[in-house]
Amino acid sequence: MTAPTTYEKPLPVKTAENAPYWDSAKAHALALPRCCACETWRYPPTPYCPKCLSDQTDWQEVSGRGTVYSFIIVHQRYDPSFAEDLPYNVTVVALEEGPRLVSNVVDVHNQDLRVGMPLTLTYDDITEEFTLPKFRPA
Ligand code: ZN
Repeated sequence: MTAPTTYEKPLPVKTAENAPYWDSAKAHALALPRCCACETWRYPPTPYCPKCLSDQTDWQEVSGRGTVYSFIIVHQRYDPSFAEDLPYNVTVVALEEGPRLVSNVVDVHNQDLRVGMPLTLTYDDITEEFTLPKFRPA
């Protein structure tokens, strides 16, 4: 998808801690933090590994394969900029690596969403700086 000229929805805030996430999404090669000592995926990012307490983290690209873990269909407009999207899904995606991402599933009718549905990562270039990781049926 190409970046629209204007994007009216709220934008992410890039910080030192999450910059690798947004930069890898922009490069269409989403990466998540992984413990250098025991290889446990550490997403959401944590200063210490919950398994071995190491503070050494590396960001590694994920496969982009996952399944629907859970989802809701939003019918209520909470922000005026989302009005045209109603109703839309907010989906918890279980990546095959283990971490779960909150995202949207595109290219599917909301009534066809099912827990366990195989998904693949896709990218929505919303501005010159930001790309949102989204998913579509595999
Ligand atoms: Zn570890």
